[in-house]
Amino acid sequence: MININENFLDLQDSYLFSTIAKKVAKFQEENPNKKVIKLGIGDVTLPLAKNCVEAMKLAAEDLSRKETFMGYGPEQGYDFLRSKILEYDYKSRGIDIDIDEIFVSDGAKCDTGNIVDIFSKDNRVAITDPVYPVYIDTNTMSGRAGKYNELTGKYENIIYIPCTAENNFEPELPTEKPDIIYLCFPNNPTGTVLDRSQLKKWVDYAKECKAIILYDSAYEAFITEDNIPHSIYEIEGAKDVAIEFRSFSKTAGFTGVRCGYVVIPKRLNGYTKNGESISLNKLWNRRTCTKFNGVSYITQKGAEAVYSEEGQKQINKNIDYYKENARIIKKGLEEAGYTIFGAVNAPYIWLKLPDNVKSWDFFDKLLNEVQIVGTPGVGFGPGGEGYFRLTAFGNREDTIEAMNRIKNWQ
Ligand code: PLP
Repeated sequence: MININENFLDLQDSYLFSTIAKKVAKFQEENPNKKVIKLGIGDVTLPLAKNCVEAMKLAAEDLSRKETFMGYGPEQGYDFLRSKILEYDYKSRGIDIDIDEIFVSDGAKCDTGNIVDIFSKDNRVAITDPVYPVYIDTNTMSGRAGKYNELTGKYENIIYIPCTAENNFEPELPTEKPDIIYLCFPNNPTGTVLDRSQLKKWVDYAKECKAIILYDSAYEAFITEDNIPHSIYEIEGAKDVAIEFRSFSKTAGFTGVRCGYVVIPKRLNGYTKNGESISLNKLWNRRTCTKFNGVSYITQKGAEAVYSEEGQKQINKNIDYYKENARIIKKGLEEAGYTIFGAVNAPYIWLKLPDNVKSWDFFDKLLNEVQIVGTPGVGFGPGGEGYFRLTAFGNREDTIEAMNRIKNWQ
């Protein structure tokens, strides 16, 4: 008889996006003449930069010729891409990392999900709340989360670190000592960030606890303020305690193309039960070579083109478009009297709901009364209750119209 991994039974079904889709479909069926504006999606909408598309076409041509055909590539990624990442994302910011500390992948979802493979099941995990749900779910699958408590909306073995308006979205150091700490900045869903001194506190704390920080900076391209670090390695000592995840998804519109990378410094160690230190870079390399055969040559050529002069120009134009949407939403909501967070260094606008309104109640009201779709904050964790997420990934006309509707809303 085949036994299953029963940890999967501890997962909570994610009804968030399917419930949203059902509610919107029902509304549209009942109100066919009303235009619904969707500002809930976390996916990009602008087409890929031409330069990346051209590079992928040329790469496809390479595969059609005997002399330039490519079969299996290096599991860690081609050096033509890793060297660009090294130069443009790190050296240009004064960060000294080696090329073999970079592992190219098919995206940050897989990396942030798969990384749990190299850590003991006994580790205590701390996760900011609310946050991107993949961290909780992958720790649940691998048996670190424990049982789910329906009343609190929390897993018993996870250390939840609240990030709310009360603490100005700065996660406080937990009282219980964690082994693995997830930080995601700019944050999904709150759009908030940590400055250098705030992040330094976490680096020092991780060192003190001999813990590791898993730093997800999928949205770093949206940072506009100078005092906000783009990489955790801008912080002194971070190479001893942090793994960093990056993605071309939001930076370059690669959500459908699929490419990202993870940086694991060689001096970063984990420990055996006997206290022997083991290189995490080596463990991840071993895992990667066993379970992954690399990102396609075509995709990596497309990602390489992101770093060309023309590529940079094109992707920045798209990012600026989304940033302008974020600015329009922020201004519109503030003029309508709402308290909002995020939006300045992220494509997400986090709305604090007035009068203790619940996230789902606001969702229904917004859809029924002004036909705008957003995402209920509670879908990102119990700390998101009473909040609502709007995204800057829609088109300009819809974004402007949505703000006009909200401003005229009684
Ligand atoms: N990390 C965060 C915080 C995200 O919000 C997302 C996607 O929404 C991802 C990672 C996934 O990125 P990718 O498309 O590279 O898998």
